[in-house]
Amino acid sequence: MKPELVTDPAEWQARSVAAREGGARIALVPTMGFLHEGHLSLMRDARRRVDEGGGRGLVVASIFVNPTQFGPSEDLSRYPRDLDGDLEKCGAAGVDRVLAPASPEQVFPPSHQTWIDVTGVSQGLCGAKRPGHFRGVATVVAKLFNLTRPHVALFGEKDYQQLQVLRAMVRDLFMGIEVVGMPIVREPDGLALSSRNAYLSKEERERALALSRSLFAARERVAGGERDAAALRAGIEKALALAADRIDYVELVHPETLAPVTRAEPGTMALVAAFVGKTRLIDNVALP
Ligand code: AMP
Repeated sequence: MKPELVTDPAEWQARSVAAREGGARIALVPTMGFLHEGHLSLMRDARRRVDEGGGRGLVVASIFVNPTQFGPSEDLSRYPRDLDGDLEKCGAAGVDRVLAPASPEQVFPPSHQTWIDVTGVSQGLCGAKRPGHFRGVATVVAKLFNLTRPHVALFGEKDYQQLQVLRAMVRDLFMGIEVVGMPIVREPDGLALSSRNAYLSKEERERALALSRSLFAARERVAGGERDAAALRAGIEKALALAADRIDYVELVHPETLAPVTRAEPGTMALVAAFVGKTRLIDNVALP
């Protein structure tokens, strides 16, 4: 069944408040649309979580290409969109209600002047390469939280740094929302699902496999006893350099602070960002 579509944030908020006061347990899955199995895995898990207690559960998803998280030279105007297809998929994944604001100005009107700046965990990795990105992400997610009043919100580990930024925001601002991180959904050959994969030509799609493959190879090396972070990074960089057009970063970091490490411990995260053609892709794995 197709979920109900709401395009007006004020109406959305009024209905969320009423649902919460009526005793519903609310789960929120924020997305930028052009949905794939990664997004749908979050929605299905949201459904399971709110239905668990046997009470009234409400699963809501937002579809909003947030202009404030794109840099001036990034892909905002050509970001892929398919609202009708997305609504079908949301319905099949158990979503009750979708917020798809009719225009960006409904969420960021000209009067907007409040920003959320998470420091520490925003600083390296994508934060260093995409100035202002996490400020835009944290601010829009805070708005979505206030509009939706969720008990629980689900995010993918695909955007690992984003997940840590949002965990910090929720903790620091006492938002009282459970933040759930969900495992990366991959293609059978290992490529992490991403709406941006739609940009890749057949030849680029082949080269994009270097991201996951270089990370899986590092995981194997750690399993085989290599613990030196510099050696592991060099191995990933070498493999990536053969296939990607530009490497943004290769880092081994602490899973919570995201501070670079010199030795890979169990749980250390290996993260990469690289361009294949004009498309910027990211991926990560936890090391054993
Ligand atoms: P996006 O539409 O790219 O902003 O993503 C919306 C949510 O889906 C974010 O929490 C992402 O981390 C998550 N997500 C995107 N791709 C994947 C994936 N391959 N596996 C799991 N979650 C994902």
